[in-house]
Amino acid sequence: MEKKRYKGICPDCGGTLWICKSIMQEAGMTDLGHGTCIHCKSFLHLEFNEDKQEFDCVNWEKYRRQIPEGGKKQ
Ligand SMILES: [Zn+2]
Repeated sequence: MEKKRYKGICPDCGGTLWICKSIMQEAGMTDLGHGTCIHCKSFLHLEFNEDKQEFDCVNWEKYRRQIPEGGKKQ
C-alpha cells in the first residue's frame, strides 16, 4: 500500500518537507508528531492540519515554551 506524503514548511529555514503521517496520526491523534528538518536539522513539532491537508511545523523549542508546565514551580 502506498504511503501518502503531506507537505510541511520548516519555520526555521523555509524548506519544504514531505512527511508521512505517523501511526498515531493515522488514528486521528493529529498533534503527536515530531521530526527533524532535512534541510537545516531543526527539531520540529509536526501537527497535521486536516483543513489544509498539510502539516503545520513548529520549532520544537518554541512549541515546548507554549505548553503551560502545570507542575513546575520556580
Ligand atoms: Zn529547516
